[in-house]
Amino acid sequence: MDANRVIVFDTTLRDGEQSPGASMSVEDKIAIACQLERLNVDVIEAGFPISSDAQFEGVRLVAQKVRTPTVCGLARCVDQDIDKAAAALEKAAKPRIHTFIATSKIHMDKKFRKSEDEILEMAIKGVRRAKSYCDDIEFSPEDSARTGKEFLYRIVEAAIDAGATTINIPDTVGYANPEEFGQLINDIYARVPNMHNAILSVHCHNDLGLAVANTLAAVRNGAQQVEVTINGIGERAGNCSLEEVVMALKTRQAYYGKYTEIKTEEIVKTSRLVSTVTGMIVQPNKAIVGVNAFAHEAGIHQDAMLKDRTTYEIMTPESVGWGDTKIVMGRHSGRHGLKSRLEDLGYNLSKDELDKVYERFLNVADKKKEVFDADLEALVGDEVQDFEEAYRLDYFHILSGDKVLPTATIALRHKNEIIQEASVGDGPVDAAFKAIDKIIDEPVKLIDYTLQALTSGKEAMGEVHVTITNNGRKFVGRGASTDVIEASIRAYLHAHNKLRHAQPKSV
Ligand SMILES: [Zn+2]
Repeated sequence: MDANRVIVFDTTLRDGEQSPGASMSVEDKIAIACQLERLNVDVIEAGFPISSDAQFEGVRLVAQKVRTPTVCGLARCVDQDIDKAAAALEKAAKPRIHTFIATSKIHMDKKFRKSEDEILEMAIKGVRRAKSYCDDIEFSPEDSARTGKEFLYRIVEAAIDAGATTINIPDTVGYANPEEFGQLINDIYARVPNMHNAILSVHCHNDLGLAVANTLAAVRNGAQQVEVTINGIGERAGNCSLEEVVMALKTRQAYYGKYTEIKTEEIVKTSRLVSTVTGMIVQPNKAIVGVNAFAHEAGIHQDAMLKDRTTYEIMTPESVGWGDTKIVMGRHSGRHGLKSRLEDLGYNLSKDELDKVYERFLNVADKKKEVFDADLEALVGDEVQDFEEAYRLDYFHILSGDKVLPTATIALRHKNEIIQEASVGDGPVDAAFKAIDKIIDEPVKLIDYTLQALTSGKEAMGEVHVTITNNGRKFVGRGASTDVIEASIRAYLHAHNKLRHAQPKSV
């Protein structure tokens, strides 16, 4: 492999899914995996097969679907874990088993009550067993950044001897500093005699906001693989963000002298998909993918930008897929115009799907005159589901004001039948949700509700995410509209439909 190429290992579906509140259905995982393939990541870590049936199924289906990237499954250095990971990866074009074991003193003493020699033995056995299933084996000494260095060198050398082809050095608890972490990578190369026979990878957490800085410091010191997630989601404060590391390497290529194979124009789309699926909104000032990342507010800046964009722009919004926001669609664009714009955005819809999106598009175009790409993507997200929706909105009517009891009437289409209910509530959204609850009659608890504007201006589309729970399972729904109550109703219905879809079919 070209020594200057950095391998991008995406763990959005494994570590990212461990974000508090970010559970993904198997369908969600496949949709994200397909987008990660378009983004051209090198490795997709699809899950932790032993941890649950759903995790196993997620890895199995992603392995079956994705062809270009390597698909990886996580396993402890325990026989059952490794066997399960191998079974989930059976259909993968390029399988990788990733085994790990804790090596820091605090973890060995408290988690395992085992000595260094016993841990070393388990690591060797684990790597050998994984190797009996496939060639591509990654080994991680968990909590490396707090592991005694002499032991770290020993276990890394032994894992490579046992057959590991990638050694991953995780800063599991986000404790490292950039200089120190860079030095650690440098020391590993200096002290592990067979290190050059394997790829050295890093996996940084963001507890001190240093995940990207630590990862880049490691790359400067020779790390060849970076473990990242979209939008930096993950355990606690999250992981190193893919978009930030990739764009840092690209924008400062002369400094780092490294490159990735990422199709950077797919970044924003991937970010939006992950945000939509998980219901975790991207903060507006987030680097690269926040809505303000390329917004220039100060007059002096705007003036200079008009003369030459590079005065205040170190990369173009187009290079990460913000698209040409000047392309605006309206009622006059017609069905054909809509179809071709959607194709430009990467959506190839069936006739049925296009019909549904077109109907909503006309509705929005009537209210809002100018329809932007972000609006179109939201409509596609609303109308194109990868499963049959049990309930569809037929109409709603809201009565609200400061001197009346907020009242909602909702009609839903279910099995060719229209069912109508009305309810009062604390506010119009609450009233609408209660009316829906009366129709669907499935006990759920609303645990999260967020609203954000998709585009600017007073006619902007609003996007609502709701999270509901039912028997301990979480479902995230989203909806978009120029009317925030309609967006809320659609989001709530979407979550209910997902719940319904997840239930046994006889119900
Ligand atoms: Zn992690």
